[in-house]
Amino acid sequence: MYRGRFAPTPSGPLHLGSLVAAVGSYLDAKAHHGEWLVRIEDVDKPRAVPGAANTILAQLEAHGLEWDGPVLFQGQRDLTYQSRLNQLQEAKLLYQCDCSRQAIRARSSHYDGYCRNRQPRTAPYALRFVNKNPVTEFTDRAHGLVTDNAPSVREDFVLKRRDGLYAYQLAVVVDDIEQGITDIVRGSDLITPSFWQLTLWQEFTGTQPQMMHLPLIMNNDGRKLSKQNHAPPVDSSQASNNVFSALKYLDIHPEPELRHGPITDLLQQALQSWRKKWHKTGR
Ligand code: GLU
Repeated sequence: MYRGRFAPTPSGPLHLGSLVAAVGSYLDAKAHHGEWLVRIEDVDKPRAVPGAANTILAQLEAHGLEWDGPVLFQGQRDLTYQSRLNQLQEAKLLYQCDCSRQAIRARSSHYDGYCRNRQPRTAPYALRFVNKNPVTEFTDRAHGLVTDNAPSVREDFVLKRRDGLYAYQLAVVVDDIEQGITDIVRGSDLITPSFWQLTLWQEFTGTQPQMMHLPLIMNNDGRKLSKQNHAPPVDSSQASNNVFSALKYLDIHPEPELRHGPITDLLQQALQSWRKKWHKTGR
């Protein structure tokens, strides 16, 4: 059974760019009669803004995007992440690395495996994954075959940071696996991390989820709309108008009057269009 998710980082309220990812992942789950889960990605605790998670959840509700099951908070899952690391440690797929960013950059454009055979290092150290079988291609439902053979895709990436925090790459994969996610639908800014994530999926489960990366909204200066460059929050009192705008970026064009009608009518029509455009037949 299809199970998708929306996984915002609570570093601020939803803006139009994050609404595109929310709406796209929601419609794809519903179009496949699947479940749509919400996970708050507060694994990077210093980046989490107090109150942002509740604001995001309220914004989703106001935009008619009702999720299935309980919301998962990464900030409460250290024990789970640690037990996965222990599993990798036992399989000798983890090593300590105390290289500074500067030292890494001085040697190469990517991490060159310097500490692989130099254990143990002095604290504080990061934990790196022994990347023996890197995934360098996958088939994306929107982009087709995506390939990247860059040395950084093949490097021994970090699973626990030098500051003691679990890396996003680890948390997202452990959670997606545990939540039974079959389809990952999110913004195209995450295509590159997908290679590392699919490498971990392969290691933990021997399988991979289906990926679909959605268009990003760009600023006038060509940068991705994001909280970092002060994208304004979506106004919950304008839900239909906001979803209508988000749909335009997803190349879904409902009847114009729905921009001012009830959100349920708009989502219903969008769902029909999504199904025609993106339904995976034969599932
Ligand atoms: N938490 C990530 C973000 O807000 C999304 C991660 C994902 O969808 O895999 O950019």
